[in-house]
Amino acid sequence: MDFKLSTEQEMIRALCRNFSKNEIMPIAEELDATGQFPYEVWKKMGDLGICGIPFPEECGGGGLDWLSMIIAIEEISRGDASLGTSLVDSVTLPMNLLCTLGTEDQKKKWLMPLATGEKIGAFGLTEAQAGSDTSAIRTRAVLKDEEWVINGTKQFITNAGLKHNSLVIIAAVTGEEERGRKKVSNFIVPTGVGGYNFGQKYNKMGYRSSETRELIFDDCHIPKENILGNPDKGISQFLMALQTSRIGFAAHSVGLAQAIFDVSLSYAREREQFGRAISKFQAVQFKLADMAMEVELARLMVYKAAWQKDQGQNYFAASTFAKLFASETAKRCADRGVQIHGGYGLMDEYPISRYWREVKFEEILDGTSEIQRSNIAKRVLKL
Ligand SMILES: Cc1cc2nc3c(=O)[nH]c(=O)nc-3n(C[C@H](O)[C@H](O)[C@H](O)COP(=O)(O)OP(=O)(O)OC[C@H]3O[C@@H](n4cnc5c(N)ncnc54)[C@H](O)[C@@H]3O)c2cc1C
Repeated sequence: MDFKLSTEQEMIRALCRNFSKNEIMPIAEELDATGQFPYEVWKKMGDLGICGIPFPEECGGGGLDWLSMIIAIEEISRGDASLGTSLVDSVTLPMNLLCTLGTEDQKKKWLMPLATGEKIGAFGLTEAQAGSDTSAIRTRAVLKDEEWVINGTKQFITNAGLKHNSLVIIAAVTGEEERGRKKVSNFIVPTGVGGYNFGQKYNKMGYRSSETRELIFDDCHIPKENILGNPDKGISQFLMALQTSRIGFAAHSVGLAQAIFDVSLSYAREREQFGRAISKFQAVQFKLADMAMEVELARLMVYKAAWQKDQGQNYFAASTFAKLFASETAKRCADRGVQIHGGYGLMDEYPISRYWREVKFEEILDGTSEIQRSNIAKRVLKL
């Protein structure tokens, strides 16, 4: 067993860590306060090749592996979880689907500008009645005169409506299979096409500079060729992408948990009570020790899942374990971190209070903890 990262992976880590420290962390507080997406930072990430790491060079990517991408997501999220979530949602879902299923023309037209960071992608599965139960989607697509006509509403869609958002890949019902199950296909819907409108940006308690919106499709016409991959396999296609995004979100949680550990450690060293730094008290030391151990364990689980994906192995179990454990690790770390900060941890001036708001998202987005546990239980019980 070899735990050593490759030279490229180490370089990606160093690049993203420096970028995060110098360009993202200093403005994270301001981004949270203003709720403005940092276009300039995204552009720089694109110029550095961060947005397209695992995609082929001919598609504008870096031609590296998914583990490298996962390391980049961890480091960017360590700087700002809000920006990290935009990265996860663009890379692991729409870009991943385009790369895996797209025709050469689709890759050139749609994937390339996403991989270079010129544009940002979105993925629309969730609807009002279809959250954890993705089979309940109602958005429909009907083929009429060589065009798909889409009607329905998606909700909670990240990155949609940003000024450089070029597309959303949506799942829509196209018919019924023999046993009455819905037939679902995935479609590339370009921003700006007639009949496709955005709702107002949601006002969220965290990830405030990553935009999340409702999408309304009202007789939205898109070209016939905007269907993605095999039209009969829409469900397994988006489930495949969700497996990758689970590793992405798990890496995101590790980055956030690491940031929480970092600020808690430095606060514990600086803050004095009873004439000494609070880091001298065993009760505080044990919290830091547990945080350090759990962050490292979560990181190993995430890297293993990414490695299995890169090896072409089945990574369903590894990605589910990683998502569940890493998100709950971030939550536990935030709890301990606020406790270490005492009353100051409840004040907006300290980043720990923002982290506290943000960690709750980790347990809900991209499959709640309950859904991850159910999936693990089904496996171990062979249900
Ligand atoms: C900020 C944000 C960004 C998002 N971005 C996107 C995006 O880009 N694209 C997209 O498609 N979606 C996106 N989502 C949707 C997100 O993935 C869903 O919110 C999530 O999957 C949960 O669905 P829900 O909110 O409808 O909760 P529900 O499914 O209504 O769940 C409510 C509660 O019931 C529990 N529950 C439900 N079913 C079961 C069950 N079978 N067993 C046990 N417990 C159960 C859940 O665990 C949860 O505790 C985003 C959401 C948010 C908040």
